[in-house]
Amino acid sequence: MLVETALGKISKDEIGVASSHEHIFIDMRGCVDVTGHEPDYFNEKIGMANRGLVFSDPYAILDNALLEGVDDAVKEMEYFKNSGGNTIIDCTLDEIGRNPSALKEVSLRSGVNIILGCGHYYHKAHFPYVKDAKTEELADEMRKDILEGIGETDIKAGIIGEIGTSAVVTDDEKKVLTAAGIVSCETGKAIHVHTDLYTENGFLVIDILTKQGAKPEKICIDHVDVLLRPDYVRALLDRGVYIEFDNFGKEFYVSEERRFAYDLERIKLLKRLLEEGYGEQILLCNDICLKTMWRKFGGTGYAHILNSVKNMALENGITENQYMSLLTENVKNFII
Ligand SMILES: [Zn+2]
Repeated sequence: MLVETALGKISKDEIGVASSHEHIFIDMRGCVDVTGHEPDYFNEKIGMANRGLVFSDPYAILDNALLEGVDDAVKEMEYFKNSGGNTIIDCTLDEIGRNPSALKEVSLRSGVNIILGCGHYYHKAHFPYVKDAKTEELADEMRKDILEGIGETDIKAGIIGEIGTSAVVTDDEKKVLTAAGIVSCETGKAIHVHTDLYTENGFLVIDILTKQGAKPEKICIDHVDVLLRPDYVRALLDRGVYIEFDNFGKEFYVSEERRFAYDLERIKLLKRLLEEGYGEQILLCNDICLKTMWRKFGGTGYAHILNSVKNMALENGITENQYMSLLTENVKNFII
Protein backbone atom coordinates (compact mmCIF):
# COMPACT_ATOMS: atom_id res chain seq x y z
CA MET A 1 0.00 0.00 0.00
CA LEU A 2 1.71 3.15 -1.23
CA VAL A 3 0.80 6.81 -1.38
CA GLU A 4 2.14 9.48 -3.72
CA THR A 5 3.99 12.44 -2.20
CA ALA A 6 5.97 15.38 -3.59
CA LEU A 7 9.04 13.12 -3.39
CA GLY A 8 7.43 10.00 -4.84
CA LYS A 9 5.77 6.98 -3.30
CA ILE A 10 5.92 6.22 0.41
CA SER A 11 4.54 3.25 2.30
CA LYS A 12 1.58 3.35 4.65
CA ASP A 13 3.96 3.02 7.58
CA GLU A 14 5.91 6.12 6.58
CA ILE A 15 2.90 8.41 6.86
CA GLY A 16 3.24 8.57 10.64
CA VAL A 17 1.63 11.54 12.36
CA ALA A 18 -0.27 13.42 9.68
CA SER A 19 -2.34 16.52 9.28
CA SER A 20 -5.21 15.66 6.96
CA HIS A 21 -5.67 19.09 5.38
CA GLU A 22 -3.40 22.12 5.23
CA HIS A 23 -2.08 24.67 2.76
CA ILE A 24 1.65 25.28 2.65
CA PHE A 25 1.31 27.80 -0.16
CA ILE A 26 -1.96 29.49 -1.03
CA ASP A 27 -3.21 32.62 -2.74
CA MET A 28 -6.84 33.25 -1.86
CA ARG A 29 -6.71 36.96 -2.64
CA GLY A 30 -8.88 36.56 -5.72
CA CYS A 31 -11.65 35.04 -3.58
CA VAL A 32 -11.74 37.75 -0.89
CA ASP A 33 -14.72 40.09 -0.98
CA VAL A 34 -13.04 43.48 -1.22
CA THR A 35 -16.10 45.46 -0.11
CA GLY A 36 -16.85 46.44 3.48
CA HIS A 37 -13.25 46.63 4.65
CA GLU A 38 -11.47 49.62 6.13
CA PRO A 39 -9.57 50.93 3.08
CA ASP A 40 -6.85 52.52 5.22
CA TYR A 41 -5.26 49.22 6.02
CA PHE A 42 -6.89 46.64 3.70
CA ASN A 43 -3.94 46.82 1.32
CA GLU A 44 -1.16 46.88 3.91
CA LYS A 45 1.36 44.05 4.26
CA ILE A 46 0.81 41.93 7.36
CA GLY A 47 3.26 42.57 10.16
CA MET A 48 3.28 42.50 13.93
CA ALA A 49 1.99 46.10 14.13
CA ASN A 50 -1.24 45.34 12.24
CA ARG A 51 -1.64 41.66 13.09
CA GLY A 52 -4.35 42.46 15.64
CA LEU A 53 -6.53 43.97 12.93
CA VAL A 54 -7.26 40.49 11.54
CA PHE A 55 -8.03 39.08 14.97
CA SER A 56 -11.79 39.04 14.39
CA ASP A 57 -12.03 39.34 10.59
CA PRO A 58 -9.29 37.32 8.88
CA TYR A 59 -9.72 39.20 5.62
CA ALA A 60 -9.59 42.72 7.03
CA ILE A 61 -6.14 42.82 5.40
CA LEU A 62 -5.92 41.24 1.96
CA ASP A 63 -2.32 40.12 2.40
CA ASN A 64 -3.52 37.65 5.05
CA ALA A 65 -4.88 35.51 2.21
CA LEU A 66 -1.39 34.83 0.80
CA LEU A 67 1.12 32.20 1.96
CA GLU A 68 4.36 32.25 -0.01
CA GLY A 69 8.12 31.77 0.24
CA VAL A 70 9.98 28.45 0.24
CA ASP A 71 12.42 29.41 3.03
CA ASP A 72 9.59 30.46 5.33
CA ALA A 73 7.56 27.36 4.49
CA VAL A 74 10.52 25.13 5.32
CA LYS A 75 10.81 26.79 8.72
CA GLU A 76 7.07 26.31 9.37
CA MET A 77 7.40 22.62 8.41
CA GLU A 78 10.36 22.26 10.77
CA TYR A 79 8.20 23.47 13.67
CA PHE A 80 5.67 20.81 12.71
CA LYS A 81 8.31 18.12 12.49
CA ASN A 82 9.92 19.08 15.79
CA SER A 83 6.53 18.63 17.46
CA GLY A 84 6.26 15.07 16.11
CA GLY A 85 4.60 15.64 12.74
CA ASN A 86 5.59 13.58 9.70
CA THR A 87 3.11 14.21 6.88
CA ILE A 88 0.96 17.05 5.56
CA ILE A 89 -1.82 16.73 3.01
CA ASP A 90 -1.67 19.96 1.02
CA CYS A 91 -5.08 20.70 -0.46
CA THR A 92 -4.12 23.74 -2.57
CA LEU A 93 -5.32 23.55 -6.18
CA ASP A 94 -4.08 25.42 -9.26
CA GLU A 95 -6.62 28.24 -8.95
CA ILE A 96 -5.30 29.14 -5.52
CA GLY A 97 -1.59 28.59 -6.00
CA ARG A 98 -0.68 24.90 -6.21
CA ASN A 99 3.08 24.70 -6.74
CA PRO A 100 4.41 21.12 -6.94
CA SER A 101 8.06 22.05 -7.52
CA ALA A 102 8.14 24.40 -4.53
CA LEU A 103 6.42 21.77 -2.37
CA LYS A 104 9.03 19.24 -3.47
CA GLU A 105 11.78 21.56 -2.29
CA VAL A 106 10.00 22.20 1.01
CA SER A 107 9.62 18.47 1.55
CA LEU A 108 13.27 17.76 0.68
CA ARG A 109 14.60 20.45 2.99
CA SER A 110 12.23 19.89 5.92
CA GLY A 111 11.88 16.11 5.86
CA VAL A 112 8.08 16.38 6.03
CA ASN A 113 6.11 14.23 3.56
CA ILE A 114 3.74 16.34 1.46
CA ILE A 115 0.76 14.84 -0.35
CA LEU A 116 -0.77 16.94 -3.11
CA GLY A 117 -4.36 17.25 -4.31
CA CYS A 118 -6.06 17.79 -7.68
CA GLY A 119 -9.32 19.10 -9.10
CA HIS A 120 -11.01 22.48 -8.76
CA TYR A 121 -11.89 24.68 -5.80
CA TYR A 122 -15.17 26.57 -5.40
CA HIS A 123 -16.96 28.50 -8.13
CA LYS A 124 -15.58 31.95 -7.38
CA ALA A 125 -12.03 30.63 -7.83
CA HIS A 126 -12.66 28.56 -10.98
CA PHE A 127 -10.59 29.17 -14.08
CA PRO A 128 -12.91 30.41 -16.87
CA TYR A 129 -12.49 27.16 -18.84
CA VAL A 130 -14.22 25.11 -16.13
CA LYS A 131 -17.56 26.59 -17.22
CA ASP A 132 -17.33 25.10 -20.71
CA ALA A 133 -15.43 21.94 -19.86
CA LYS A 134 -17.21 18.62 -20.11
CA THR A 135 -17.32 16.36 -17.06
CA GLU A 136 -15.09 13.87 -18.83
CA GLU A 137 -12.48 16.56 -19.57
CA LEU A 138 -12.39 17.52 -15.90
CA ALA A 139 -12.03 13.85 -14.99
CA ASP A 140 -9.14 13.55 -17.49
CA GLU A 141 -7.32 16.41 -15.76
CA MET A 142 -7.55 14.61 -12.43
CA ARG A 143 -6.51 11.28 -13.98
CA LYS A 144 -3.43 12.93 -15.45
CA ASP A 145 -2.46 14.51 -12.12
CA ILE A 146 -2.90 11.19 -10.32
CA LEU A 147 -1.41 8.83 -12.88
CA GLU A 148 1.18 10.86 -14.83
CA GLY A 149 2.09 13.99 -12.89
CA ILE A 150 0.97 17.54 -12.24
CA GLY A 151 1.70 20.04 -15.03
CA GLU A 152 5.17 19.46 -16.47
CA THR A 153 6.39 17.64 -13.36
CA ASP A 154 6.39 13.97 -12.46
CA ILE A 155 4.91 14.79 -9.05
CA LYS A 156 1.61 12.95 -8.73
CA ALA A 157 -1.48 13.90 -6.77
CA GLY A 158 -2.14 11.58 -3.83
CA ILE A 159 -5.71 12.69 -3.21
CA ILE A 160 -8.56 14.50 -4.97
CA GLY A 161 -9.43 17.96 -3.66
CA GLU A 162 -10.12 19.97 -1.87
CA ILE A 163 -12.98 20.18 -4.30
CA GLY A 164 -14.90 23.37 -3.57
CA THR A 165 -18.61 24.00 -3.13
CA SER A 166 -20.42 27.27 -2.45
CA ALA A 167 -23.39 28.03 -0.17
CA VAL A 168 -25.63 27.27 -3.15
CA VAL A 169 -23.79 24.53 -5.02
CA THR A 170 -23.44 25.71 -8.63
CA ASP A 171 -23.83 23.61 -11.77
CA ASP A 172 -20.10 23.93 -12.45
CA GLU A 173 -19.31 22.71 -8.94
CA LYS A 174 -21.64 19.76 -9.44
CA LYS A 175 -19.80 18.97 -12.68
CA VAL A 176 -16.44 19.00 -10.89
CA LEU A 177 -17.86 16.82 -8.11
CA THR A 178 -19.21 14.36 -10.67
CA ALA A 179 -15.76 14.16 -12.27
CA ALA A 180 -14.17 13.66 -8.84
CA GLY A 181 -16.61 10.84 -8.08
CA ILE A 182 -15.77 9.11 -11.35
CA VAL A 183 -12.00 9.36 -10.79
CA SER A 184 -12.24 8.29 -7.15
CA CYS A 185 -14.23 5.24 -8.20
CA GLU A 186 -11.58 4.36 -10.82
CA THR A 187 -8.46 5.05 -8.78
CA GLY A 188 -9.63 4.56 -5.19
CA LYS A 189 -8.30 8.02 -4.30
CA ALA A 190 -9.83 9.86 -1.36
CA ILE A 191 -11.73 13.10 -1.92
CA HIS A 192 -11.64 16.19 0.29
CA VAL A 193 -14.64 18.47 -0.20
CA HIS A 194 -14.75 22.04 1.02
CA THR A 195 -18.33 22.69 2.11
CA ASP A 196 -19.75 26.11 2.89
CA LEU A 197 -19.23 26.88 6.57
CA TYR A 198 -22.82 27.74 7.46
CA THR A 199 -24.98 25.50 5.28
CA GLU A 200 -25.57 21.74 5.26
CA ASN A 201 -24.50 20.76 1.76
CA GLY A 202 -22.64 17.64 2.86
CA PHE A 203 -25.58 15.41 1.98
CA LEU A 204 -25.79 16.75 -1.58
CA VAL A 205 -22.04 16.32 -1.99
CA ILE A 206 -22.20 12.70 -0.80
CA ASP A 207 -25.13 11.98 -3.14
CA ILE A 208 -23.27 13.33 -6.19
CA LEU A 209 -20.03 11.51 -5.41
CA THR A 210 -21.52 8.15 -4.48
CA LYS A 211 -23.78 8.20 -7.54
CA GLN A 212 -20.56 7.95 -9.58
CA GLY A 213 -19.33 5.02 -7.51
CA ALA A 214 -17.10 6.82 -5.01
CA LYS A 215 -17.07 4.96 -1.73
CA PRO A 216 -18.33 6.84 1.37
CA GLU A 217 -15.14 5.87 3.23
CA LYS A 218 -13.15 7.76 0.59
CA ILE A 219 -15.10 11.00 1.08
CA CYS A 220 -14.35 13.66 3.67
CA ILE A 221 -16.77 16.52 4.33
CA ASP A 222 -14.58 19.42 5.47
CA HIS A 223 -15.22 22.44 7.71
CA VAL A 224 -17.98 21.07 9.95
CA ASP A 225 -16.43 22.74 13.00
CA VAL A 226 -17.09 26.43 12.29
CA LEU A 227 -20.76 26.39 13.22
CA LEU A 228 -21.09 23.39 15.52
CA ARG A 229 -24.16 21.34 14.62
CA PRO A 230 -23.93 17.96 16.35
CA ASP A 231 -27.01 16.52 14.62
CA TYR A 232 -25.73 17.50 11.17
CA VAL A 233 -22.33 15.99 11.91
CA ARG A 234 -23.86 12.75 13.23
CA ALA A 235 -26.12 12.46 10.17
CA LEU A 236 -23.08 12.82 7.90
CA LEU A 237 -21.14 10.24 9.90
CA ASP A 238 -24.10 7.87 9.65
CA ARG A 239 -23.68 8.02 5.86
CA GLY A 240 -20.27 6.38 6.35
CA VAL A 241 -18.06 9.31 5.34
CA TYR A 242 -15.28 11.08 7.20
CA ILE A 243 -15.91 14.51 8.66
CA GLU A 244 -13.13 16.94 9.41
CA PHE A 245 -12.58 19.28 12.31
CA ASP A 246 -10.18 21.52 10.44
CA ASN A 247 -10.39 24.99 11.89
CA PHE A 248 -8.27 24.67 15.00
CA GLY A 249 -6.59 28.00 15.58
CA LYS A 250 -9.41 29.96 13.90
CA GLU A 251 -11.65 31.59 16.50
CA PHE A 252 -12.92 34.51 14.45
CA TYR A 253 -15.92 36.66 15.26
CA VAL A 254 -16.87 38.49 12.09
CA SER A 255 -20.46 38.82 13.35
CA GLU A 256 -22.85 36.78 15.51
CA GLU A 257 -23.95 34.84 12.41
CA ARG A 258 -20.41 34.52 11.14
CA ARG A 259 -18.70 33.48 14.31
CA PHE A 260 -16.24 30.59 14.38
CA ALA A 261 -16.48 28.09 17.22
CA TYR A 262 -13.62 28.18 19.71
CA ASP A 263 -11.07 25.38 19.89
CA LEU A 264 -12.41 24.36 23.32
CA GLU A 265 -15.95 24.04 21.95
CA ARG A 266 -14.63 21.89 19.11
CA ILE A 267 -12.85 19.63 21.56
CA LYS A 268 -15.99 19.23 23.69
CA LEU A 269 -18.00 18.13 20.63
CA LEU A 270 -15.15 15.87 19.54
CA LYS A 271 -15.23 14.19 22.96
CA ARG A 272 -18.96 13.51 22.61
CA LEU A 273 -18.55 12.06 19.13
CA LEU A 274 -15.75 9.80 20.33
CA GLU A 275 -17.98 8.58 23.17
CA GLU A 276 -20.71 7.86 20.64
CA GLY A 277 -18.40 5.59 18.66
CA TYR A 278 -17.56 7.80 15.68
CA GLY A 279 -13.83 7.92 16.40
CA GLU A 280 -12.73 6.11 13.25
CA GLN A 281 -14.42 8.62 10.91
CA ILE A 282 -13.04 11.90 12.21
CA LEU A 283 -10.05 13.82 10.85
CA LEU A 284 -8.42 16.73 12.65
CA CYS A 285 -6.16 19.52 11.38
CA ASN A 286 -5.71 23.31 11.14
CA ASP A 287 -6.43 23.93 7.42
CA ILE A 288 -3.84 26.72 7.54
CA CYS A 289 -4.73 29.25 4.86
CA LEU A 290 -3.87 32.60 6.44
CA LYS A 291 -0.57 34.36 6.82
CA THR A 292 -1.22 35.09 10.49
CA MET A 293 -1.55 31.36 11.17
CA TRP A 294 2.15 30.90 10.39
CA ARG A 295 4.51 31.10 13.37
CA LYS A 296 6.51 33.74 11.52
CA PHE A 297 3.50 36.05 11.71
CA GLY A 298 2.56 35.31 15.31
CA GLY A 299 0.28 32.32 14.65
CA THR A 300 0.17 28.86 16.17
CA GLY A 301 1.48 27.12 13.05
CA TYR A 302 0.93 23.61 11.71
CA ALA A 303 1.88 22.03 15.06
CA HIS A 304 -1.06 23.66 16.88
CA ILE A 305 -2.91 20.31 16.77
CA LEU A 306 0.13 18.60 18.31
CA ASN A 307 0.55 21.16 21.09
CA SER A 308 -2.26 23.29 22.54
CA VAL A 309 -5.15 21.42 20.94
CA LYS A 310 -3.80 18.08 22.09
CA ASN A 311 -3.38 19.36 25.64
CA MET A 312 -6.94 20.66 25.55
CA ALA A 313 -8.18 17.28 24.35
CA LEU A 314 -6.36 15.37 27.08
CA GLU A 315 -7.61 17.76 29.77
CA ASN A 316 -11.14 17.16 28.54
CA GLY A 317 -10.90 13.40 28.94
CA ILE A 318 -9.86 12.31 25.45
CA THR A 319 -7.11 9.72 25.80
CA GLU A 320 -3.70 10.01 24.15
CA ASN A 321 -4.53 6.93 22.09
CA GLN A 322 -7.88 8.25 20.94
CA TYR A 323 -6.37 11.59 19.99
CA MET A 324 -3.32 10.28 18.18
CA SER A 325 -5.43 7.74 16.24
CA LEU A 326 -7.15 10.68 14.56
CA LEU A 327 -3.75 11.87 13.30
CA THR A 328 -2.37 8.47 12.38
CA GLU A 329 -4.75 5.58 11.68
CA ASN A 330 -7.61 7.74 10.43
CA VAL A 331 -5.52 9.68 7.94
CA LYS A 332 -3.91 6.47 6.67
CA ASN A 333 -7.23 4.69 6.29
CA PHE A 334 -8.73 7.69 4.50
CA ILE A 335 -6.00 8.15 1.90
CA ILE A 336 -4.91 4.55 1.25
ZN1 LIG B 1 -8.40 24.03 2.80
